[in-house]
Amino acid sequence: GSLLAATDLHKTYGPTPALDGASFSVHPGEVVAVMGPSGSGKSTLLHCLAGIVPPDSGTITYNGRDLTAMSDAERSALRRGEFGFVFQFGQLVPELTCVENVALPLRLNGVKRKEAERRAVEWLQRLEVDDLAGKRPGEVSGGQGQRVAVARSLVTGPRVLFADEPTGALDSLNGERVMELLTDAARSTGAAVVLVTHETRVAAYSDREIVVRDGKARDMEFAR
Ligand code: ADP
Ligand code: ADP
Repeated sequence: GSLLAATDLHKTYGPTPALDGASFSVHPGEVVAVMGPSGSGKSTLLHCLAGIVPPDSGTITYNGRDLTAMSDAERSALRRGEFGFVFQFGQLVPELTCVENVALPLRLNGVKRKEAERRAVEWLQRLEVDDLAGKRPGEVSGGQGQRVAVARSLVTGPRVLFADEPTGALDSLNGERVMELLTDAARSTGAAVVLVTHETRVAAYSDREIVVRDGKARDMEFAR
């Protein structure tokens, strides 16, 4: 069955709906690309699926639990415990070193500093940026920073990794390397990936693609 599924989502901010009947599903360990032009509703779909934005109507089920029926505290515990996030930019804390950034989610979950930093270094190694452990985000390149962000998103062992245009600020060579490392790392942990992108080259790293147009997501898998 599906790990995360949404049916007939509607969400309106202004005069035109951001989501207008969107359905979506992802299986454990599957990498799904959410594609479509700018403004089509991709980010809104991701934010609904991740429990960040409440839909006006529709259902969202994670592991058999109705996300829309949960309290804010339950949703926030779910995000912290089971979900990981990578965005386009601005996600690393500039005052912390790279290893401290990766260790941060573990520290927030109560893991002691030494153990958290040991696991953070392991993750930096897997993303091939352990040589940057002592540097601050301002001292590393865009591609290196995104690798650190991927390490941080997976260090807690999430079941779903939400990635919103993770390579949007990178040139194509760095973007492909980040996608290769991100999908390899996610697959090695069994995490499912919900990847928002408008680039075919980036979507090529997925197992399956869903196209969003005018807030309508066609999930062929789901329609079966
Ligand atoms: P992308 O197209 O890269 O996914 P965003 O999701 O940040 O970019 O924004 C898409 C569109 O949604 C933009 O036109 C932006 O102006 C609008 N938008 C995003 N967030 C807000 C907001 N909080 N208030 C008003 N408009 C927003
Ligand atoms: P995409 O990610 O495909 O670029 P979005 O989901 O960001 O699309 O946006 C879909 C539509 O919803 C756009 O018309 C955008 O302007 C609008 N929108 C998105 N977020 C907000 C927001 N927070 N406030 C107002 N409008 C928003």
